[in-house]
Amino acid sequence: MEKGKLIIISGFSGVGKGTVVKSLTEKYDDCVVSVSATTRNPREGEVDGKHYFFKTRDEFEKMIEEDKLLEHAEYVGNYYGTPNDFVTDNLNKGNHVILEIEVQGALKVKDKVADAKSIFILPPSSKALKDRLVGRGTEKEDVINERLKRASEETDLIGNYDYYVVNDTIDECVQDIRDIIDGNFNNELGQSFINQVKEEVKLFSKGEQ
Ligand code: 5GP
Repeated sequence: MEKGKLIIISGFSGVGKGTVVKSLTEKYDDCVVSVSATTRNPREGEVDGKHYFFKTRDEFEKMIEEDKLLEHAEYVGNYYGTPNDFVTDNLNKGNHVILEIEVQGALKVKDKVADAKSIFILPPSSKALKDRLVGRGTEKEDVINERLKRASEETDLIGNYDYYVVNDTIDECVQDIRDIIDGNFNNELGQSFINQVKEEVKLFSKGEQ
């Protein structure tokens, strides 16, 4: 049986990655999402083992020592990491495995797994991003500001991704990702649009927009 593909999906906090990935895996039976381990506290409605495996720092560090993670990174004060076994098992079964992870982890996976495809989801505009992050109401203001700061730092690394898609409508964004998986995607997004979003994110994370 042909092995599945490893697909890395990243995007600024608030861009709607979670919704896009959920929709992709609901629509296509051959796409499965890897459940990460994290030391952050569950948000309301989040279920252990479904949204994340919630761990203490000690438990997480043990997973690192025992080499149970494909990659891990720290993000705004917490550890996040991808358990190895699920990824390997599903790729062997022919499923495409989606990793919804931040930029540092994405680069580590690209180093380890040469044929992984990395996709960065961009907002239609930086204003749309800020509105979503604030409107979601799941984070306190200081956490939002930390996440915006982090988004600004991440802009310097997003040039390393293989593909860029815009989350204007969820259906189109899901279709673009499916096309990437199938090798049918036309990367038509201009570099100038990508640069513009990068600059805007930097400005508003400094409170200048
Ligand atoms: P959140 O706290 O909003 O669920 O996630 C924060 C960030 O951590 C997001 O950018 C998310 O994609 C990323 N993330 C989630 N799981 C992992 C993981 O296993 N590894 C890495 N490197 N990042 C992750």
